Amino acid sequence: MAANRETSSDKTSSRIRVLSSHLHSLPPPSRMASSEKDAALAATPSDAPTIFDKIINKEIPSKVVYEDEKVLAFRDISPQAPTHIIIIPKVKDGLTGLSKAEERHIEILGYLLYIAKLVAKQEGLDDGFRIVINDGPKGCQSVYHLHIHLLGGRQMNWPPG
Ligand code: AMP
Repeated sequence: MAANRETSSDKTSSRIRVLSSHLHSLPPPSRMASSEKDAALAATPSDAPTIFDKIINKEIPSKVVYEDEKVLAFRDISPQAPTHIIIIPKVKDGLTGLSKAEERHIEILGYLLYIAKLVAKQEGLDDGFRIVINDGPKGCQSVYHLHIHLLGGRQMNWPPG
């Protein structure tokens, strides 16, 4: 009997572990997902200055995790994972989004990816991370200054939403 009780309790613990791991890998609440989507659909693609210019110029506060003469990396104000960092070029140079990339941008695009890797290391994301670049309304882009999202600290899912 004792052995039976132990087996049943083992099964329950195992189910709780499985459920808990599913819960941790679920996407953020739909309220958050739809507000992000609403923001993206409301945004007008344009080359006008964005909130990221204010962050670069330190006109509004941000939690900077990396900075050099070409790029700035700061924590996302609405994190979608335990680690969520935005990496941007300090000079936009027409790069409102990836779809506007031209040959002259090849160096900065490669550099941004390299910095993403360095920041991932700095943040201790040794088991993996995700890089996202949203582009345009259908890509859910809300800020028209090219940026890389670096996400980590939880199990990611595939396909993304
Ligand atoms: P996207 O939707 O790809 O254009 O991403 C824009 C990101 O910028 C979103 O994840 C926002 O949460 C983030 N964001 C907007 N304003 C700020 C801010 N003031 N500080 C940090 N992150 C911001």
